[in-house]
Amino acid sequence: MAVSNLDELGKIINLTEDEKAWSEKGPSLSMLISDNILSLIDKRDPKDPIRREFVPTCNENIASEESIDPLEEVANSKTNRLIHRYNNRAALLVTSRCFAYCRHCFRRRFTSNDDGKITEPELMEAAKYLREHEEIKEVLLTGGDMFTLNDGEIDMLLGTLKAAREDIIYRLCTRALLASPERFTSELMAIIKKHMHGAPFLLMCQFNHPRELNDKAIKAVSAFVDMGIPAFNQAVLLEGVNDDVDVLEELSNKLLYNRIKPYYLFQGDLVDGTKHLRCSLKKGLEIEKELRKRLSGIAMPQYTIDLPQGGGKVILTENYVLGLENGMWKIKSPFQGKRDYPEKSESVNQ
Ligand code: SF4
Repeated sequence: MAVSNLDELGKIINLTEDEKAWSEKGPSLSMLISDNILSLIDKRDPKDPIRREFVPTCNENIASEESIDPLEEVANSKTNRLIHRYNNRAALLVTSRCFAYCRHCFRRRFTSNDDGKITEPELMEAAKYLREHEEIKEVLLTGGDMFTLNDGEIDMLLGTLKAAREDIIYRLCTRALLASPERFTSELMAIIKKHMHGAPFLLMCQFNHPRELNDKAIKAVSAFVDMGIPAFNQAVLLEGVNDDVDVLEELSNKLLYNRIKPYYLFQGDLVDGTKHLRCSLKKGLEIEKELRKRLSGIAMPQYTIDLPQGGGKVILTENYVLGLENGMWKIKSPFQGKRDYPEKSESVNQ
């Protein structure tokens, strides 16, 4: 049984004072911890990384300089459920519900609130917008977690969207692979398969710690990959969870081994109530630099910040290009020293 309040959780885990003092008021989102996640938490360790991701503390109740909507999604909402912030892609909030609520959730203004599932008129309105905006090439199906919808609702969602625009790449964004891997039944996979025509689906996962990739989660991801849906991981850099080179190296290699491309490593957004989970950018850059030495190019995620006030995504990395001097680029090696690379003076092609 999933746990949704401190009294129930206190019977399973010896709660710390900070955990006991959490209040759902203020910039906080509800507590919900699924069975699979509970089974992954080391109950004896108050600093267990997975516990930090899902068990709330009173640190969430501290108001700070942050915002409840740092990416300005509300300002960029074109329908009740569709956010169109970048020219070529959009995000559709199909539900506010998840199988478990991550304490670092950047969309906590919406997640776990009473808006619930997308209604049929809201879905039709979004489909109309997509038909009228051919510049949109990709749509993120998100929320919330789309797989909290039942099979019939997912069938209708995918059917409506494919009928509106078969040429759009729909990204299936979910943490259910970790939180509720049993959700991916053969019936559900058959529904997804039925809609695999036109542009491909992409599976967007969020695994933040290597321990999250247990046998059940790996099996759930495999069901998508075996069907021809590529899987990508978008991890979030979190203090006390994965702000460690060894942990992230293990995570990346384990993801790749299980056919999931490590795609992003996100710097935490400036969201109210999440400051205690955010890693400093200085430390993040040090981790990125070391990871780059240890991982292959394909195993290396892009350390990325989504700039406040909807400024867009920027890749964060060591500055390797030092400058151009007398026709020679000075470039720092990730291993040692620097190298010269000549600027091409003129084309040899006629
Ligand atoms: S699964 Fe995604 S939307 Fe849900 S709480 Fe976690 S980060 Fe937020």
